[in-house]
Amino acid sequence: MSNDPQKNAEKKQRPPIVVVMGHVDHGKTTLLDHIRKASVAAREAGGITQAVGAYEIVRNGRKITFIDTPGHEAFSAMRSRGAQAADLAILVVAADEGVKPQTKEAIKILEDTKTPFVVAINKIDKTNGNIDKAKNDLMGASVFLEGYGGSVSYQGISAKSGDGVDALLDLVLLAADMEDLSYDPTAPASGYILEARRDPRRGLEVSAIVKNGTLRRGDKIQTQSAEGKVKILEDFLGHVADSLEPSAPAIVIGFENLPVIGEEFSVGESINCKHSSVTKGISDVWKVGGGKANGQELNLLLKASDAGSLEALAAVLSGIGEKDQKGIAIVDKSVGDITDSDVKTALATGATIVGFKNRVEKGAQNFAEAQGLAIVTSKIVYEIADAVAEFLAGKRGPQAVGKFEILAVFNQEKLDKQLVGGRVMEGIIRGKASFDMLRKTESGAEEPAGSGKILSLREKKSELTQAEKGKEIGVLVNSPATIKIGDVLVVKK
Ligand code: GDP
Repeated sequence: MSNDPQKNAEKKQRPPIVVVMGHVDHGKTTLLDHIRKASVAAREAGGITQAVGAYEIVRNGRKITFIDTPGHEAFSAMRSRGAQAADLAILVVAADEGVKPQTKEAIKILEDTKTPFVVAINKIDKTNGNIDKAKNDLMGASVFLEGYGGSVSYQGISAKSGDGVDALLDLVLLAADMEDLSYDPTAPASGYILEARRDPRRGLEVSAIVKNGTLRRGDKIQTQSAEGKVKILEDFLGHVADSLEPSAPAIVIGFENLPVIGEEFSVGESINCKHSSVTKGISDVWKVGGGKANGQELNLLLKASDAGSLEALAAVLSGIGEKDQKGIAIVDKSVGDITDSDVKTALATGATIVGFKNRVEKGAQNFAEAQGLAIVTSKIVYEIADAVAEFLAGKRGPQAVGKFEILAVFNQEKLDKQLVGGRVMEGIIRGKASFDMLRKTESGAEEPAGSGKILSLREKKSELTQAEKGKEIGVLVNSPATIKIGDVLVVKK
């Protein structure tokens, strides 16, 4: 904050930028939809097909900008990267469920980023809605409401019927009055990237939110990973604009490459040459987790339905990597369905494919199954997080993709070239895969009996790349342990 009175005099007030947070199914989307539909201008935006990621309403003659990201998780991703896009938050807590894990996560993010917030206790129309439980739960999570020993204001609402929503918006405006939401209209524009997509007709289409300065058509624009020129500037309704001021959502056409969601943008010629990292690509940014401290690293290939979800996925997974002090390396990430080329990349990099809110193409599914490659998919980011945490904890991994029972030993002159025969009991086994060996004890229990690597698979005279369940084949293996009839090779990827 400048102490120069001249400078302060130039400052103008800007509308608050608000984000809605809370547990899944507590009504965030319903609330955002209700607010949008109740506002004439924002309703018009409903006709626009592309996801702008934000809309603006007017309440009592005052504007409010809502961040309306398709995957709400995207916002927490942005927060965790320190992008301070929003000024205020509405924390939605369903009266019938109270505080749930993602409510707690949202509270933690709000505390960590010192973001002021108001609480919306939602679903008060439901007969089992219990406002007092929600209030008590909030107290248990150290959120002290007004009248309950604290100063956090709250409003009971029904996002479905709209009851209480106007009063909630008034609380938002009151909370905004407590903040210094000013900007310098003469400064070069800066703000945050909300969405980025490739439009078949218009090319790269980026939505952003302006937080300072004035964004003008013709401006040179850049982020840490991308740059371009504002060739077309539109407001959130898709109307062409010559310039936009804070806190307006903006659609920008003219980026030369796709920026990363949540990145800060700025305009002007000399932005500390930040964009020199363009050529480096963004894989560094996506390298997350606690690193290779103890050599444990899980390679992941991420695919999601849209850029916001992809960002959210990476952020949530990075949280796991940090918590466990283990490395998660994201070898590739992109938007779209999972294709066989993703399976190829995953095989080449030893990665597990993680899909969020997308489909696995049939061909890719078959290919992955044939190769014994794991694909984790879900529409719920936390399910994915749990699965990845399990992989990291070693509960699921390294995955066994096939089991091979030894039925014959042909040649054991050299332990690094033992020729044995047997049958694939389960799954698929592949050449060059490593294995752990199990041996039955006299009591019938199975014990680890060493490990090794498959050198090649043979059927009669020909070499196979893989063999499925039921196949009887010869296998050339390298193992320090002498393999015996009855041993089982648990073959990994
Ligand atoms: P989100 O995951 O937080 O975005 O939750 P949604 O907005 O998708 O809402 C989850 C479910 O709760 C949907 O079936 C909504 O129709 C329902 N819902 C949301 N708000 C209310 C409400 O105020 N009252 C009732 N009865 N149902 C609601």
